[in-house]
Amino acid sequence: MRKTKIIATLGPSSIDKVKELSQYVDIFRINFAHGDTKSHKEYFEKIKEYSDASILVDLPGPKIRVGDIKGKIVLKPGDKVVFSPYEGIPVEDPLFYSGVKENSYVLIADGSIKINVTKVEKDRVEGVVIEGGTVTSRKGINIPDIKIPSGVTDNDLQLLKEALDLGADFIGLSFVLSKDDVLKVKSISKDRAWIIAKIEKKNAVENLKDIIKVADGVMVARGDLGVEIGLENLPFTQKKIIRLSKLYGKPVILATQVLESMVNNPIPTRAEVIDISNSVSEGVDAIMLSDETAAGNYPVEAVKTLHDIILAVEKRVKTVRPPPLTGDDAIAVASVNVAEISKAKLLVVHSRSGTSIIRISRLRPKVPIIGLSPNKELIRKLKICWGVYPFLTEKSLITLNDIIAYAEEISKKFVKCNENIVITGGDPTLEEGRTDFIKLHQIVC
Ligand code: PEP
Repeated sequence: MRKTKIIATLGPSSIDKVKELSQYVDIFRINFAHGDTKSHKEYFEKIKEYSDASILVDLPGPKIRVGDIKGKIVLKPGDKVVFSPYEGIPVEDPLFYSGVKENSYVLIADGSIKINVTKVEKDRVEGVVIEGGTVTSRKGINIPDIKIPSGVTDNDLQLLKEALDLGADFIGLSFVLSKDDVLKVKSISKDRAWIIAKIEKKNAVENLKDIIKVADGVMVARGDLGVEIGLENLPFTQKKIIRLSKLYGKPVILATQVLESMVNNPIPTRAEVIDISNSVSEGVDAIMLSDETAAGNYPVEAVKTLHDIILAVEKRVKTVRPPPLTGDDAIAVASVNVAEISKAKLLVVHSRSGTSIIRISRLRPKVPIIGLSPNKELIRKLKICWGVYPFLTEKSLITLNDIIAYAEEISKKFVKCNENIVITGGDPTLEEGRTDFIKLHQIVC
């Protein structure tokens, strides 16, 4: 059973391959930076028709983009450029003109083009090209030192409503600046969707701990993050995001350029294989594919390649366990120890709120985790958690004996007679959120 989860972005290359992709994909991602209400609905319908995978909707955030260009604009170092809605490189977004300052750097197309700003007017900005390249329509613009009040725009709030109405399980918040952005969206979403904070701004890195504590999950959004903080700072920052997310028990997703070469080739580069292997060894919960599946020529090969690499690496991974956070972690740690010492085949965790399941997943046990919950929506969300195979409890489990009997019933699908399983969770007769029992149990047939 693969423990590191796979997220695949759907797009023109893959929308008709949902069924094939579902063999390997735990979560499909729909990027609401593209498309409209009609196409978003169609994407949801396709996923629900062909797959049980859960759905992550990515909101665009305050991403500034180049407007429509007929053909292309080629820039060479030393060229003078103008940004304006009326001339030069077209930019409509008022955020650009209010946020950019003299001497700011404007980066276009994932930072490949770099322009030093020399003059700022109401809706006209002049600059000099430092690194040249070709600008085409809709390319992303980053201004690393831009001052913006919030990472959540009015457009995001409209798209959030649309995503929640369509039944999104997760909402990806782009360009989060502080915990306030996450709390704002959580206050609207309530518990309908888990909020994933995409870490891609310097401010987010500065406010990392506070953001992680309030978010339901975190994404290392390496594309924009690399542009905003500089590529040379990316490896250390990625490690820090993963370490802190695991420490606080929040699912962490590794994203962007994971198998970039597979957009055009059926096999990956050696460097990509080793990047994935390192991320699996560090214990990320999920790895996400973007262009590889959304716009690439080999979407099915890309998810299968990722699946195969993860499985091969997981066989040899040495787990580093984070320290306990609360008293309830004592029972979680003990359950993992009992499972490993007794060579149990499964760790079955019952949880109404999901807390006990996340607590066990955080410890990255060698044994696969079966998560049992009576909450249908929660079951879909738990698919993001490392090592967790969630199951809905069809009957209401009132007592500990009910849980043990149900755990045995589910486990028989995976283990043989006389093998051991460990059952843990919160006593259903007490308050939610506690992890307070362990049972080492032999399967009798
Ligand atoms: C990223 O920047 O790495 C990312 C995941 O966000 P997006 O795909 O929206 O650019």
